Amino acid sequence: MNDAERERYDETNRKVLEESKRFDAALPELRKCLLGRYVIFLNGEVVDHFATMDEAYKVALKRLGEDAAFVLSQVRRGDSPFHGPPEGTCSNCGVRSAEHWWTGEGGVMAAAHGQAAPWCERCCVTAQLEHARTVASDVSELEERLAALEKTP
Ligand SMILES: [Zn+2]
Repeated sequence: MNDAERERYDETNRKVLEESKRFDAALPELRKCLLGRYVIFLNGEVVDHFATMDEAYKVALKRLGEDAAFVLSQVRRGDSPFHGPPEGTCSNCGVRSAEHWWTGEGGVMAAAHGQAAPWCERCCVTAQLEHARTVASDVSELEERLAALEKTP
């Protein structure tokens, strides 16, 4: 992330955190009819709701733009990603209990809006290892390219 991107991220994150207070206050009411749904929440109201996080995020980007202050979250029994650890089962493996909010898939701006999935420790470490392996494989490729470059001054 460069400085301009960091600034945009921080600004969006700050606005979303403000909105997340309204979201958390509305949660008990939202649970009555939207439990399990992924909602786009802005100015204290549900803009729309969807079956999947991906769908919700796509629509939010199209209608509101990624700098808007919307909160993107599943309506769960436990706390939202903004407040407290997840409850229930890992949404990735469906076996172990969720311990972390996994934000690794949608990118930083999606994460700023609250796009996060409740994952178990094992799923998080597996995904991190996969990423580390991908990055490590870049190392040998770059070393080869550099070695080739150094042969021709
Ligand atoms: Zn898991």
